[in-house]
Amino acid sequence: MNLNTQFLHGNFKCEDKTGATLAPIYQSSAFGKSSAEEIEKIFNNELPGFAYSRISNPTTFAFEQRIAYIEKGISSTATSSGMSAISMTFLNIVQSGDEIISTTSIFGGTLDLWSDLKKIKITVKFVDEITEENLSKVVSSKTKAVFAETIGNPKLNVTDIKKAADAAHKFNLPFILDNTAATPYLVTAIPLGADIVINSTSKYINGHSNSIGGIITDGGKFDWNNGNYPSLEKYKKYGKLVFSAALKNDTLRNYGACISPQNSFLNSIGLETLGLRMERHCENALRLAQCMENKPGIHSVNYPLLDTNPWHDIAKKQFGGKGGGIFTMRLYTKHRAFEFIDRLKYAIIITNIGDTKTLVVHPSSTIYAHSDNRTKEKAGVYDDMIRISVGIEDIDDLISDFTDALEYVNTKYGNEVSE
Ligand SMILES: *Cc1c(COP(=O)(O)O)cnc(C)c1O
Repeated sequence: MNLNTQFLHGNFKCEDKTGATLAPIYQSSAFGKSSAEEIEKIFNNELPGFAYSRISNPTTFAFEQRIAYIEKGISSTATSSGMSAISMTFLNIVQSGDEIISTTSIFGGTLDLWSDLKKIKITVKFVDEITEENLSKVVSSKTKAVFAETIGNPKLNVTDIKKAADAAHKFNLPFILDNTAATPYLVTAIPLGADIVINSTSKYINGHSNSIGGIITDGGKFDWNNGNYPSLEKYKKYGKLVFSAALKNDTLRNYGACISPQNSFLNSIGLETLGLRMERHCENALRLAQCMENKPGIHSVNYPLLDTNPWHDIAKKQFGGKGGGIFTMRLYTKHRAFEFIDRLKYAIIITNIGDTKTLVVHPSSTIYAHSDNRTKEKAGVYDDMIRISVGIEDIDDLISDFTDALEYVNTKYGNEVSE
């Protein structure tokens, strides 16, 4: 099955009972059973079934099955948000005193989570890029995992997944990857070596900005029974599924970060057009980035597929000639950037990515407002930079919108640009 066919048919058939063409919304908190014994068995994982929607729900289960198939994982677990997908993944495997290694150029919310983990004595050590050499400088006997994003948001640095996974495995550490900005459309990360793949479904998978959600996919290849993960020990009997068994039976169930059935339903709808939308997002982003690249009044444009981009080669190879739907550009000063944003007709001013509509934001004063200058610099956030999540509008409209806004800014502030 090719990818677009997988988005529609992978691990999905019309519902048995009714023939419904999408798993219906089972908007029920709990599910009644015919006997005390039956519910006992469901609670002890001796019988498949649904008992309570914090633990599992048929609509959510259908969505999880579809994602697991597409990601080539052995199990997926949906969560209330992308952030809870990240926090549940780590709370599933670490305990007080443990360490995590993360790259520096990642989503601002994840950086904030890394700070919060200090409260429970979990330390995050940073590397700019995941290489064996960089890891060897920060790894210790307490290290439990290595984390990166496929396309760092907003630096747009591209992780070489195979290389990073190989480096983590040299130290017997799992490689955990946030694939939100790339999506399984650009790359399926588990066959390249990622052990756990996380997506904020709020972005491209849902695709229409109508629900917050996250999903964790377990690759099933990492040896969690190597003595390094005491919290997983009681799930040893589940073999390859040990990580997911602990996640579903302990961590997610007890912290309670479940997704609502309604949101799982909306995500399943989104998933079906992921390929179509991504194709257009990528095409539009490339065209718009190319068009803005050498214009007067633009300091620089950052998009992985541009010839001048430091990640051009790996992006081209790893993403099959696509570059994703996001680019950033710098306009020399903050007030030029602000004026440009305000002048755009179609781009919505918003802290989000992955909508059908074009979105624009000034990361330094929003998503990175809580970060110091050094953190911002490491994450590729500059005062004159804007991030554009390119939508699926007609490209000619976007090009004329962006060109007009730039002309306006250049006319108003022309003499301030020092080239
Ligand atoms: C948005 C985002 C998240 C967080 O997802 P939410 O659904 O907003 O909680 C995590 N990682 C990346 C790369 C994101 O873009």
